[in-house]
Amino acid sequence: MKPDWDKVTAAVRAAHGAAEGPWSAYLYDLQALARHAAHIREGLPPQCDFFYAVKANSDAPLLHALAPHVDGFEASSGGEITWLREQFPHTQLIFSGPGKLDTELALAIEQRVTVHVESLHELERLAALARAGGQRVPLLLRVNPPLAELATTTLVMGGKPTQFGIAIEHLPACLQRLRQEPLLDLRGFHFHLLSHQLDADRHVQLLSAYLQQSRQWCTQYGLHIEHINVGGGIGVNYRDPVQQFDWPRFSASLAQLLAQPERAGAPRLRFELGRYVSAFCGYYAAEVIDIKQAGGRTFAVVRGGTHQFRTPYAQGHSHPFHVLPVDRWDRPYPRPGVTDCTVTVAGQLCTPKDVLATDAPVAHVRVGDLLLFPYAGAYAWHISHHDFLRHPHPQHIYF
Ligand SMILES: *Cc1c(COP(=O)(O)O)cnc(C)c1O
Repeated sequence: MKPDWDKVTAAVRAAHGAAEGPWSAYLYDLQALARHAAHIREGLPPQCDFFYAVKANSDAPLLHALAPHVDGFEASSGGEITWLREQFPHTQLIFSGPGKLDTELALAIEQRVTVHVESLHELERLAALARAGGQRVPLLLRVNPPLAELATTTLVMGGKPTQFGIAIEHLPACLQRLRQEPLLDLRGFHFHLLSHQLDADRHVQLLSAYLQQSRQWCTQYGLHIEHINVGGGIGVNYRDPVQQFDWPRFSASLAQLLAQPERAGAPRLRFELGRYVSAFCGYYAAEVIDIKQAGGRTFAVVRGGTHQFRTPYAQGHSHPFHVLPVDRWDRPYPRPGVTDCTVTVAGQLCTPKDVLATDAPVAHVRVGDLLLFPYAGAYAWHISHHDFLRHPHPQHIYF
């Protein structure tokens, strides 16, 4: 999904023109989000369900723009379940994450949420709650198998020992426990082993390995399951934005994989995508407050920083940006600016880690211009440490 610069620029200029003093903001293009979600949906074969992992960005306007295009939402906490239920009383919800509290499990049961169980102890606690309420609980076992197909990306949640999912050696004990608990209703297996996958072919290989592994367990343990949740993890290429995950290629290979004759009557696939759904619709805009030279390098200091937009620091990349010239200048002193050079963009925090972009080439930038960072719709504002230094929060604009 390419940024619609004209439309975003118009929204930025309108909001900036009305603002007082140095300014920063998040802007979300909700139409683009809905279009992108529809495009994802169209690419998924009919045997697939599409959920949005809301921790990527749980702002209400985004959820409402996405709702018509998804089968449901994935929550990672009781707080997210409550937030979702307030707005979507009837939408399907699913619940993952390590360290679920009894109160969160009870809320999930009460709100008819499918639980992705992450350990034998969690299964035990869910069983006790189900018995206490006399209620049947649909669940998937989140497993962490060692898979040879697991290509490594920059963020790996499984395929090696981690706090996520049930280690493969404990799966038999969990299945044994499930046989003794008629109120616990095993609907399938859940896999979410990595994030930041940019390679469509490798992703299909990984899903194929999930399917094979599930088939083997079903045969070995005599299980009938309805779903295989294949997690999220499709990445966004921040470093080389023109090379994004090849969704059409992925969907064609996936359709081929699911059309294989041995898959007749097989479980449905559930996707719970976060980053790839919402990253593209968001933009972070920040006004340049100062420009200075040091040791042959140029630094642009902006209103805001990593406490508002932590994505580049969290991912360890230099975030791409555009300069939006602002011609207004009504000060009695000269306006600092640079032409045809590389600029390191830093924020207002008292730490050298507060850097959004490093040695990025720019044609022209001045104090008072705006820098516009695309791909800021997922794991951006919501993962940032907003109140470090107690600067005012950025404006949030949904258009
Ligand atoms: C965070 C998360 C997702 C979404 O991951 P993305 O990389 O944003 O697609 C999906 N499933 C689980 C269990 C998660 O924790």
